[in-house]
Amino acid sequence: MTDPAGGDCETFAFQAEIAQLMSLIINTFYSNKEIFLRELISNSSDALDKIRYESLTDPSKLDSQKELFIKIVPDKDAKTLTIQDSGIGMTKADLINNLGIIAKSGTKAFMEALQAGADISMIGQFGVGFYSAYLIADKVTVTSKHNDDEQYIWESSAGGSFTIRTDPGPPIGRGTQIVLHLKEDQTEYLEERRIKEVVKKHSQFIGYPIKLLVEKERDKEISDDEADDEDKKEDEEKKEGEDADKPKIEDVGEDEDADSKDKKKKKKTIKEKYTEDEELNKTKPLWTRNPDDISQEEYGEFYKSLTNDWEEHLAVKHFSVEGQLEFRALLFVPKRAPFDLFENKKAKNNIKLYVRRVFIMDNCEELIPEYLNFIRGVVDSEDLPLNISREMLQQNKILKVIRKNLVKKCMDLFEELAEDKDNYKKYYEQFSKNIKLGIHEDSTNRKKLAALLRYSTSASGDEMCSFADYVSRMKENQKDIYYITGESKEVVAASAFVERLKKRGLEVVYMTEPIDEYVVQQLKEYDGKNLVSVTKEGLELPEDEDEKKKFEEAKTKFEGLCKVMKDILDKKVEKVIVSNRLVNSPCCIVTSQYGWTANMERIMKAQALRDTSTMGYMAAKKQLEINPEHSIVENLRQKAEADKNDKSVKDLVLLLFETALLSSGFSLEDPAVHSQRIHRMIKLGLGIDEDEAEAIGEDNAEEMPELEGDEDDAGRMEEVD
Ligand code: ADP
Ligand code: MG
Repeated sequence: MTDPAGGDCETFAFQAEIAQLMSLIINTFYSNKEIFLRELISNSSDALDKIRYESLTDPSKLDSQKELFIKIVPDKDAKTLTIQDSGIGMTKADLINNLGIIAKSGTKAFMEALQAGADISMIGQFGVGFYSAYLIADKVTVTSKHNDDEQYIWESSAGGSFTIRTDPGPPIGRGTQIVLHLKEDQTEYLEERRIKEVVKKHSQFIGYPIKLLVEKERDKEISDDEADDEDKKEDEEKKEGEDADKPKIEDVGEDEDADSKDKKKKKKTIKEKYTEDEELNKTKPLWTRNPDDISQEEYGEFYKSLTNDWEEHLAVKHFSVEGQLEFRALLFVPKRAPFDLFENKKAKNNIKLYVRRVFIMDNCEELIPEYLNFIRGVVDSEDLPLNISREMLQQNKILKVIRKNLVKKCMDLFEELAEDKDNYKKYYEQFSKNIKLGIHEDSTNRKKLAALLRYSTSASGDEMCSFADYVSRMKENQKDIYYITGESKEVVAASAFVERLKKRGLEVVYMTEPIDEYVVQQLKEYDGKNLVSVTKEGLELPEDEDEKKKFEEAKTKFEGLCKVMKDILDKKVEKVIVSNRLVNSPCCIVTSQYGWTANMERIMKAQALRDTSTMGYMAAKKQLEINPEHSIVENLRQKAEADKNDKSVKDLVLLLFETALLSSGFSLEDPAVHSQRIHRMIKLGLGIDEDEAEAIGEDNAEEMPELEGDEDDAGRMEEVD
């Protein structure tokens, strides 16, 4: 392809998802189109941050353009709006990659969000803000000059492709110039008033001057002769077409009557039109101001311009630290977790680091621990050197102190949040995983974080409650906090383990998120009370003397059965013991103190981490507990005592064991064998003759485990019939 200017011109196809996104932006009806300007200004600001950072170590990088600015130029005749910055600019490769070829993970995620009813203004959060230009433009021309490359022009009218060519036009020094060829119905964005309104609303806290080219008028006194000249000039200009940079002169209507007088004086007052840059964002950086003078709205606007979020923050902390070390900080808790909070392996943090008001970087990992990576904000240090490099930051003592302070303030912020139940609920829904991760990682603040946890319990109803709530409800003779881990609230609430505790009025904490397993690995106690799993061995419930005596008696009575059962189950269980935790179930499986719980085994099996060696080593050590008050168990005891080698005892024990595995949250190693056992029981129940069934070929009797002694039972069933 050749272009009119004669330069070389290459055409590229947009990456498929980007093309799809663009046509979605162009063809779907959105009323909130004004956010395009916020996105483009935000990109300019990022580009300016980058060149400023580079210039800290190499000042010559600014030689190509000393001033750092963003400039907006509306052109009513050409129906274009231009946004220019003196940022880092883009090389040819940057233009091709960043504006069309390489899709970010956000591209697809954003389209899905849109289809699910998300607002277009969320675009910036998904890292595809540039394409919002197509909300108001049908053609976009990007001219860019990077220090390391020539000046190039990227251009696209959407439709699946864009072009790149070298720019023979006037050099822009350094940076990027985006010309938006506005759609017919979007010319409101050429109006000074409208542009000012949008910039004030979305971009007033940008850290570089945003200048708008505005048209102004001023009075000018000129002599008559001059006026005649001007009149002539003006006529000529009109013929030539308007030029914004040349002053235009108009007669002042009111003076018409006094014309003759003026003529005598040979003087005339005229209105002169001229253009001028007007700075639109003169506000001081918010964090440098006194918190007492800042309104919630201002914090909200600042947060939105900082994060590209479309909603205001949930909570904010604005503070300064003085003394040996000095810095100011503004920390925000967003209303929602970002779509990729735990996706990126290398979690970026979202705190911008400034040194004496100069932006340094926004992904300084040393600034805040990973579990707090949802906190957004600004830190402005008085002490760090301006030309600090990433490598230096890793060792930096000042930064360590700042980090400690930030974490502490975050804890204060969360505690304050917890005072307002409704707000805290919103916060907890979004960020409970972060708190839990913190408990796992941050031993210093574990206590504080534990106080922030909320769980459903057997006594909390629909609400979630804190450990403090739990402790306040503990029974007089209760020493421990009881909990159960499992797949869902419904599952754990119905579990056999919870039965007895509930019956005795003991409360059980329901932990139903995978990460809870990691929480209880680290969190051994709260307020001096041990956290005790109701599914692990050695569960001791507060008992009175009567109960103790009864339990001891039961132990002796069922000692024989326990031994028989252990012999039958052999390696499947560590041991078989009499339980004090069951009410309605005949038996359950508990795990050893240090092995995995059933829930953990489920989680680990589900994870890719399926190294069978660890599975074997860590897999839950199972122990079968039997309920001495249950009729099945009592019956079994009698059968076993009557005849140790009763074949039906063996089969029933296996069935009981497998059923207990299932109801205790484990999966069966060989579900087929289990269902065959069940089928045989069903057949017994229905009085179906085994030989008959085989004849119809309904079942595969050969593979079936023997159900010992079934002849007797079958006979009995038939009698019932
Ligand atoms: P994001 O800003 O979240 O990265 P965008 O879609 O807004 O996503 O921009 C895509 C990329 O294009 C940016 O990351 C940047 O590399 C590049 N870019 C956009 N605008 C500019 C600009 N004015 N100057 C330099 N690079 C820019
Ligand atoms: Mg952007």
